Amino acid sequence: MANKGWDEFDAGAILFSFNDKVDNIATTLAEDRPYSPSNSFTASVGDWRIEKPIFNKDYCIDCQFCWIYCPDVSIIARDKKMIGIDFDHCKGCGICVEVCPTNPKSLLMFDEHKDDDECLAGWPEKDEKEK
Ligand code: SF4
Ligand code: SF4
Repeated sequence: MANKGWDEFDAGAILFSFNDKVDNIATTLAEDRPYSPSNSFTASVGDWRIEKPIFNKDYCIDCQFCWIYCPDVSIIARDKKMIGIDFDHCKGCGICVEVCPTNPKSLLMFDEHKDDDECLAGWPEKDEKEK
């Protein structure tokens, strides 16, 4: 099965996410779940990305909007705190940046190859409210 391409499965085929039962998915950290080889967690798809989200913790209010809206479950949160991005699975869609409510945003998109420290050094200032 591991060597089959996506277009080689019969219509209606089922791919199982886990090899074993997971008692409580909400409290089991991703790295502790028994993912099966057919689950995309075991494959890195980060090389699809041409832009990457960079996280600036100085402005983050831990609202978790990015965690809720990321379509690839690539926001890493622990104990209700945003701690970073899973770049093995993030595809660079930018949705996390769109939903981040802080001023300035705590997540911004940058060219995939730009140095992270350089991205953080050029972070925009707070926008003043129009009167
Ligand atoms: S850029 Fe898209 S895939 Fe990557 S962390 Fe943000 S919302 Fe998720
Ligand atoms: S949406 Fe922005 S402020 Fe909210 S947790 Fe994510 S990075 Fe932090």
